[in-house]
Amino acid sequence: MGAYWRPGDLAEALHILRSARPRILAGGTRLVRGATPADWDQDWLDITGIAALQGIAATAQGWRIGAATTWTALLAAPIAALRQAAATVASPQVRHQATIGGNLAARFASADGAPALLALDAVLEVTCAEATRQLPLGQFLAGSALAPNELITAILVPQCTHSAFAKHGSRQAVNVAEVTAAVRLDFTDGRVSGAGLALGGCLAAAQRLPALEAALLGQPATNLAALVTPDALAHLTLLDDFRAPAPYRQHVAATLLRRLLTALAPEAVA
Ligand SMILES: Cc1cc2nc3c(=O)[nH]c(=O)nc-3n(C[C@H](O)[C@H](O)[C@H](O)COP(=O)(O)OP(=O)(O)OC[C@H]3O[C@@H](n4cnc5c(N)ncnc54)[C@H](O)[C@@H]3O)c2cc1C
Repeated sequence: MGAYWRPGDLAEALHILRSARPRILAGGTRLVRGATPADWDQDWLDITGIAALQGIAATAQGWRIGAATTWTALLAAPIAALRQAAATVASPQVRHQATIGGNLAARFASADGAPALLALDAVLEVTCAEATRQLPLGQFLAGSALAPNELITAILVPQCTHSAFAKHGSRQAVNVAEVTAAVRLDFTDGRVSGAGLALGGCLAAAQRLPALEAALLGQPATNLAALVTPDALAHLTLLDDFRAPAPYRQHVAATLLRRLLTALAPEAVA
């Protein structure tokens, strides 16, 4: 059996991470996948006792979400897309344990937090014993690595007023995504003045849709869904596997985006 630490203090955790290089354990709900008895011989740093990694706080720019905040806590997040994503994750039991930091750090295709936070322009706060840096989530998902002594300490989400998330899979509960979609829109005088669109579940890693976002800018809120043409997603290399074939995922992705854009439009005039 390896060592197990569960510090309550972030500085102590970072010191342990620097000196002993343990594996990071948050909710453990992704780590259990494929775990073997050999894993027990490793050294573990459990970060769930660190108060500084918990909860959602308003900041001057938006919100700071502690990396060890659970999906249950995110059900009450002040950001609609994140709340809606939380409601689709796993089951109540898993949501009590599983964290948003673990969801992003594990970098897997069907991670529901990734498209939601990508559409919201989220930035990771990454900390080691010596320094804190900011890493845009898009760069992290594209492969930018953390150093072994670094911890994701928070997710920084800029202020936004209109956002939504949707997920499609084969079940209603404990549903692994075949496609997820997230949309963030800013409106000025009934027209789109800012847009963030992202897809997940159907791609190796969640991606933004910059061409579609550019097409939305300046458009009146009334018929945004029409901009999601059959060609709008043709450039994407969609997953084609036992869960769903690529053409089906493309159809579902376009449908989810149209629904989200339609659902957000009335908020432009509200
Ligand atoms: C039955 C079941 C259903 C599930 N359903 C869904 C679902 O619907 N949607 C979904 O998205 N996921 C689902 N998952 C996967 C998982 O529960 C979630 O992704 C969860 O958010 C992972 O968080 P965790 O805290 O448990 O991560 P952990 O398992 O503790 O960690 C995952 C990885 O991230 C690393 N890590 C954790 N925190 C940090 C940090 N702060 N900094 C750096 N590295 C870190 C760990 O070292 C590990 O490599 C499901 C899992 C189970 C068991």
